Amino acid sequence: MSNRRGLLIILSSPSGAGKSTLAKRLRDWDSGLIFSVSSTTRAPRPGEVDGKDYHFTTEAAFKAQVANGDMLEHAHVFGNFYGSPRGPVQDAIEAGNDVLFDIDWQGAQQIRNSALGQHTLSIFLLPPSIKELHRRLIGRGQDDSDTIARRMQRSWDEISHWDSYDFVLVNDDLDATEEKLRTIVTATRLRRIQQPGLTGHVRTLQTEFEEQL
Ligand code: ADP
Ligand code: 5GP
Repeated sequence: MSNRRGLLIILSSPSGAGKSTLAKRLRDWDSGLIFSVSSTTRAPRPGEVDGKDYHFTTEAAFKAQVANGDMLEHAHVFGNFYGSPRGPVQDAIEAGNDVLFDIDWQGAQQIRNSALGQHTLSIFLLPPSIKELHRRLIGRGQDDSDTIARRMQRSWDEISHWDSYDFVLVNDDLDATEEKLRTIVTATRLRRIQQPGLTGHVRTLQTEFEEQL
């Protein structure tokens, strides 16, 4: 077993608050972080790469994966199915690697309630204001006005779950938020439960201690 047990790091927020941007920054900071590539039935946006941003799949294939128990969690968001494949997550955390999830509150809740729940770190990002959230969605330039309106409609539903998360950050200044995220991840890696190797180390200390007497 690795000396360290991997963490499941969950980032949630209303659409446009900055999850993808911050997830990318965290991965640039620590190349050992493994991004959980979700499966989705939604169509790829321009520039999105199959297998990197998402596994783009059909509804039938998605439902088969769920029926086989191959999804750690799954949800229906904006009329499409999204889910986190279980296998890569299991392999990563058993090898002591952390996994980063960009998922909604329903997925976060399912992972928290799963057998892996005790190894979860959940972080919610709030926008500084609703006006700024709208501005960011438009500024991202990836959605038509109907989609933006639907995402704005749904944002309150997502925000209303802010108080189920371990940490909540207002993503005003991007650099400051990134710094806080790094601090949270660094500290949580030191939780006793993430360090199974400590038991052996303390046993060694005990032997050394007793030999001294
Ligand atoms: P999400 O993944 O939560 O939907 P994105 O990461 O795609 O959101 O961010 C939406 C837009 O807002 C992007 O254009 C991004 O560059 C911008 N953005 C993210 N965080 C900030 C911030 N703190 N200040 C200004 N713009 C930001
Ligand atoms: P988007 O279509 O903008 O990429 O994602 C829409 C929403 O679905 C975002 O809130 C995102 O976090 C969420 N999402 C993406 N992948 C998953 C997943 O695997 N599971 C769940 N529960 N939500 C997801």
